[in-house]
Amino acid sequence: MRDFFLTEDDRAFRTEVRAFMSRELAPKVDAIERDQDFGAQLAITRALGEAGYLKLMFPDFHRGTLPKPGLTHAVIVSEEAAFLNYAFETTIATALSCAYPIHRFARAAPRERYLTPILEGRAIGSICMTEPNVGSDSAAMEAQIRFDEVTREWVVSGFKRYISNASKADVYVVWGVTDPNVPPQKGLTAVLVPAGARGMSFPRLYDFIGRRGSIVGEVAMDEVRVPEENLLGEVNDGFRIMLGAFNFERVILGGSGLGVSRAALDIACQHAQSRDSFGQKLGQKQLIWDMIAQMSWKIDAAELLTHRAAKMYDSGIGGKDLMREASQAKLVASETAVFCADRTVQILGGDGVTRQYGKAEQLYRDARTLPIVGGTSEMCKYLIAAREMPSIRLNL
Ligand SMILES: Cc1cc2nc3c(=O)[nH]c(=O)nc-3n(C[C@H](O)[C@H](O)[C@H](O)COP(=O)(O)OP(=O)(O)OC[C@H]3O[C@@H](n4cnc5c(N)ncnc54)[C@H](O)[C@@H]3O)c2cc1C
Repeated sequence: MRDFFLTEDDRAFRTEVRAFMSRELAPKVDAIERDQDFGAQLAITRALGEAGYLKLMFPDFHRGTLPKPGLTHAVIVSEEAAFLNYAFETTIATALSCAYPIHRFARAAPRERYLTPILEGRAIGSICMTEPNVGSDSAAMEAQIRFDEVTREWVVSGFKRYISNASKADVYVVWGVTDPNVPPQKGLTAVLVPAGARGMSFPRLYDFIGRRGSIVGEVAMDEVRVPEENLLGEVNDGFRIMLGAFNFERVILGGSGLGVSRAALDIACQHAQSRDSFGQKLGQKQLIWDMIAQMSWKIDAAELLTHRAAKMYDSGIGGKDLMREASQAKLVASETAVFCADRTVQILGGDGVTRQYGKAEQLYRDARTLPIVGGTSEMCKYLIAAREMPSIRLNL
């Protein structure tokens, strides 16, 4: 049995979600990949919202049949979506990564204004950390946020890049420096910027090798003004808010990696069992079944780590106490996705690199972004090693 950590309720939930994805997402995956149809993604997001699947992480909003909904179930939704189309999964994972700090840290009025529509699938969100000079070293960001005492507004200026859902989101969580005179971890603040705010623009959308259909771009902010109540948490509390969002995002990314990996293994096994070569099935050759076996145990390892981290979160463990496990889940699941997609292409030979013969080549392109987004593999290794060796400070 693969899903060792799951209960009977969790498994029944997976069956339900799989049926939902076959009905709502499967018919639209070609339009998303080939035509980059974002309208199709918004329609499925709406259906996800109506089914209550975007509220799993937010028990005070959830009204479903699950006795204890949580990150375990959000991961299952991610995995089942990514199995069919990773681009779509990134759109909803980003919206949830935006909903997460709003739920925890927003004031009552903006919380109601921005959170409810996201959880009902009527709106999507975006999170803005990365900048031209700052990626992994996110605390060293340069965007500025200042408070205007006269108008009692936050004023945001800066340039963010590689922002998922840029130009399509209804609300953006934006991090910037509020106090340049303290270490960056103590001088960052996060605020909510609604779509359409004056001074916000999207100079460029990127064209990636994979995740086709997802929207990722630049966000420029020139003296963007938002009301005082749009502050998340307290002033200079932004780094702590960011760390919490990272844990959540990394466990969800474990689900993304699992979905892509499983899709690849399915294609590889099907091909190896049906294709004849030198008078035998391809899968009978040791060099081929070795690849299948490696994919299989790597996927199980990724699944165990991802579900462990999700179950830990659901049992109330978070912050620094989840950092090692969340990073392990993200690291192993994303590297496994790259491995499985690569080996599947190899097992398929020419069919693996041809668009006309199924989606192995798409999985290969999609998987490659996984070890980069949401904390690179190198950053995950740093966090894991730092927790294992608390008495020394690792070089970054
Ligand atoms: C498709 C896509 C979607 C994204 N969506 C978002 C989003 O919605 N919001 C957002 O804020 N960001 C987003 N990002 C940005 C993403 O989080 C960053 O790309 C990532 O954090 C890495 O930053 P970087 O690209 O600047 O690379 P860098 O930080 O410059 O790193 C380059 C390489 O060097 C390695 N490296 C860096 N420092 C060290 C070190 N000290 N030791 C060893 N190796 C090191 C890295 O691991 C990496 O391999 C997205 C990126 C992509 C590609």
